[in-house]
Amino acid sequence: MTISNEDLLLELFIKGVFVEGESNIYLDLKRQNLQRYKRFDFYFNQYRYSTYMEEMGKTPYKLIQGKLYYYDELLQNIEIKRIEEIDWGSEKPWYIKKWNNLDNEPYELRLNPINICFNLRYITGEKGEFRGCAFCHRVYTHGRNMENRKIISVQEIFNDIFLQEGAEILKNIKKVLIMTGNMNSTKDVLHLCREIYTILENKNYNGVFSISTNQICTEESIKDLSSMDNTIFDYTLEVFDRRKCLMGEQKGYDMHKVIDTLTLARQYFKFIRITYVVGLDSYDSLEAGFTKLKNLGLIDDVVPLIFVPYTPEMKNLRNEDATEIDYYKKVRIFFQNNNLVPLKNGLTKNLFQEDKLNNNEMDGLLETRK
Ligand code: SF4
Repeated sequence: MTISNEDLLLELFIKGVFVEGESNIYLDLKRQNLQRYKRFDFYFNQYRYSTYMEEMGKTPYKLIQGKLYYYDELLQNIEIKRIEEIDWGSEKPWYIKKWNNLDNEPYELRLNPINICFNLRYITGEKGEFRGCAFCHRVYTHGRNMENRKIISVQEIFNDIFLQEGAEILKNIKKVLIMTGNMNSTKDVLHLCREIYTILENKNYNGVFSISTNQICTEESIKDLSSMDNTIFDYTLEVFDRRKCLMGEQKGYDMHKVIDTLTLARQYFKFIRITYVVGLDSYDSLEAGFTKLKNLGLIDDVVPLIFVPYTPEMKNLRNEDATEIDYYKKVRIFFQNNNLVPLKNGLTKNLFQEDKLNNNEMDGLLETRK
């Protein structure tokens, strides 16, 4: 049985991989009846991706002594390499993202100063089985212990960055992106942005500054954010359907409010980038949703991340059609036909194969900023 490179990568996201001799779930369970899949990070054609570890018999993929088998057949000519040391970037207060094809040059500084996510207040899922976004890797209530890091100030975070990376590091950074848990209020989010931005300004940072969130929705707050940097409005749309069920009361606000927010953002920002989780909506909803945003002129770029379940229960959230790779291929064609191929590289669950993107830059939007 053979499989193309392209199909293989898609199927690894959907079905996961069994690794011989290892349990596929974390052992540090707080509650023994709940399980959380281990993550499997790998290089595929020299780009980094991530999926989950599955039980034997539930996936056609097996990793045996570093070699990948598909239905018991060794896959020759497939360049796949497991990344043994998993770097939980999302659980550190900061980390620097590097891009393989740029000789590992530093590229993006990610800041994650909030140890908790306020969205975890909300019960989510079809049966109320989750807290916070039902597709989120955090899933603190399932399995792995809560991250164990000290609460430190933004200034301490920067002190640490300069200590470890050198005082001049910001000169090499093209983008500072805040990717952190949701906060209690929009005011708090803006306060955090302002605090970080002031430090950057004082250091004469001249790259792009943005925050990935959907908590900034009013005209006043959008304007305030744009006064720091109006290059990219990084908006976490995530899904079109079942928004409250999957994201909770607060983050899952309805599409009318989404459109109002993006319409305001359009007045103040040069670009609107939308993060979207592929595999939760029906194809029809996805097509209708993006067509509407496109026709209204409310999207410049999409970051399409394939949904990878972190617990067995999460698998049930996937749209029925999205259990087959044809769904993802159809979505790709739709994006291609509508000029929505991502301009950003380095996504670990990218719908588009990184080496097929032909982006010579890490992020096309940044190249057009000045
Ligand atoms: S808001 Fe973000 S961090 Fe919080 S649960 Fe949702 S996806 Fe996870």
